[in-house]
Amino acid sequence: MKDIVIDIEAEKNEILKRYRALLRACKSTLQKGDKKLIRKAFEMALESHRGMRRKSGEPYIYHPIAVAQIAADEIGLGPTSIVCALLHDVVEDTDVSLEDIEREFGKKVALIIDGLTKISGVFDTNSSLQAENFRKMLLTLADDVRVILIKLADRLHNMRTMEFMPRDKQLKLSSETVYLYAPLAHRLGLYAIKSELEDLSMKYMERETYQFIKKRLNEKKTEREKFIRDFIEPLQKVLENQDLHADVFGRPKSIHSIWNKMKKKAIPFEEVYDLFAIRIVLDSAPDHEKAECWKAYSIVTDLYRPNPDRLRDWISSPKANGYESLHTTVMGPRGQWVEVQIRTKRMNEIAEKGFAAHWKYKESSSDSGLDQWVQKVRDMLKNPESNALDFLDDFKMNLFSDEIFIFTPKGALIQLPQGATALDFAFEIHTDVGATCIGAKVNHKLVPLAYKLQNGDQVEVITSSKQTPKEDWLNIVVTAKAKAKIKSALKEEKRKIADEGKEILERKMKSLKITYNSENLQKISYFFKLLSTQDLFFNVARGFIDMKDLKEYQASEKIVENKPQDKIENDQVQSLLRSIKTKDSDILLIGEDMQKIDYKLANCCNPIPGDDVFGFITVSDGIKIHRTNCPNAAKLMANYGYRIVKARWTNQQELAFLTGLRITGIDDVGLINKLTTVISNDFKVNIRSITVDSDNGIFEGSIMVYVNDTEHLENLIKRLKMVKGITAVTRFDSAVEIAS
Ligand code: MN
Repeated sequence: MKDIVIDIEAEKNEILKRYRALLRACKSTLQKGDKKLIRKAFEMALESHRGMRRKSGEPYIYHPIAVAQIAADEIGLGPTSIVCALLHDVVEDTDVSLEDIEREFGKKVALIIDGLTKISGVFDTNSSLQAENFRKMLLTLADDVRVILIKLADRLHNMRTMEFMPRDKQLKLSSETVYLYAPLAHRLGLYAIKSELEDLSMKYMERETYQFIKKRLNEKKTEREKFIRDFIEPLQKVLENQDLHADVFGRPKSIHSIWNKMKKKAIPFEEVYDLFAIRIVLDSAPDHEKAECWKAYSIVTDLYRPNPDRLRDWISSPKANGYESLHTTVMGPRGQWVEVQIRTKRMNEIAEKGFAAHWKYKESSSDSGLDQWVQKVRDMLKNPESNALDFLDDFKMNLFSDEIFIFTPKGALIQLPQGATALDFAFEIHTDVGATCIGAKVNHKLVPLAYKLQNGDQVEVITSSKQTPKEDWLNIVVTAKAKAKIKSALKEEKRKIADEGKEILERKMKSLKITYNSENLQKISYFFKLLSTQDLFFNVARGFIDMKDLKEYQASEKIVENKPQDKIENDQVQSLLRSIKTKDSDILLIGEDMQKIDYKLANCCNPIPGDDVFGFITVSDGIKIHRTNCPNAAKLMANYGYRIVKARWTNQQELAFLTGLRITGIDDVGLINKLTTVISNDFKVNIRSITVDSDNGIFEGSIMVYVNDTEHLENLIKRLKMVKGITAVTRFDSAVEIAS
């Protein structure tokens, strides 16, 4: 074994150097006494983490210093947060107690550290519902938003320094990050951090694609920079002539957002035109901001022709997270669309640092959208009815959506997510208004409940006392608030109906001389394949169950295992896990273990040998193998970490695996024939199905084929691309499968 020599003296110097850099970063926010406090926190962290090292071998103290540096530099937080960031891991990882912290730094700091300690264990437990933990974590929003902000800084630094972690840990952290932390950062307006978190997750979850796009971006760098210079030059001149002080520069888009665009539009890298945006940051006096932004807009569109559909004005109506900017897309000198973002220095700081910068400028606007949002989150969390997983889905949806602005008949402004309907609006006004809504008038015209509202609509809700919430309303609404209210109303309704069913069933059982007790009720529920006695009562009341069948039950006298559902679930998971782990390693070898262990390839992502994969233990269907970049992977890993099994392919040339190809091209007589010839004759690959859509000479088809592995697939794709008339061939994931 090799001895690792550590130069303690050099490390000491490095620690001090990093500490001084931190002090410089937060200098502008420091007041009298703050520096002393930060020094004290640094010394406590240094002392208590003494001797501890990170996976990389570096002294542990580098981590809290870096987290504090991110909090100061990239989020713009003040001294209290710097102190908390320095101490964020001490209570959890060292002998220092919360009482010690409170004694030394006061109640406020202790409360924040307590919050950070509580949520740090969120993902590590084996408890079955991580979603419930997410919810607890979000509850800290209600106490102090700084907890979440420091947690984000912590996560960002961990993601930046993840290369020394084992692969499964990397995947787990990455999926949690895309699943929850990036959306949170987005919602808090921390755009820079959000993009970096997404890029870092992608780097580990989709290694090849990430490296591919990164390489391509680098190759085109010189060309791109020249284009940006040519675009900017005339712009700068005119801005100057008109006495506008501005910074104009090109900003590259993130790898993750480019990848998203490729997927969404099913286009190759070469066809993504907006690899960057031009940003104009004006140095304007507070009362000239809006006018000068529009003046700059006028200059831009004098030089370059704007796309009239692509003007976004978030200055007149800022986003709920505080984002203000003017966006337009113009035709560049080489016939290429270019996005231009116009904003002032103040707006830019809010866009980059979000929340914290927002508070700094807050005097100007008394009721900010963000306050309303935090209030909404609090309301949602208070609703004890909502199931934790549903809640998380709804919550995430609300995190990502952009807002539209709707007016009440009296002219009050209401913010709703894009895609919100008249019914959402009704619930936003009041629960009772929503529950009795039968329609609405939008801009004085009558519309149905499901009408999708447009920005700027004026809406008047029409109600009727006879109306009650309906099951299908859940498909109409998009806001978490409306969903929760409808669900709880339906539940209440169902409970009333179930009470009637209970009476009917009780009478019937009496007449058949079946004892009315909970054991028999459970057996009967099972007999009718219902999940609970509550469901049984409901189905009886609604007449969905024929009472004659009860006799059949009595005759069959089925003996049913009387275990509660979650017990059964847990037993299955544990026994499957055991069957894998008794072997030398805990990795599931696909191909070898096939006879002994019950597993299937998931049909949401159709993995084939060569893909990066993992196993997921389902409740009733054995183990399913998913690709790590499956559309469901992040959700599964983040919520059911304890059911994830590492998996690897073994050699198995002889087996064939189902995968899907999306093919587009110019329609031509015999194109399908040519395709199938290549696939079946040249490649000897079996086709399971072909679906073809032809519209105005454009050909779009999906083909499901059986291939051996990724290499085989790539060769097939390459060959298909050579067929005359074909413009693109991509692998696709089939419909999204529900985790069960
Ligand atoms: Mn940490």
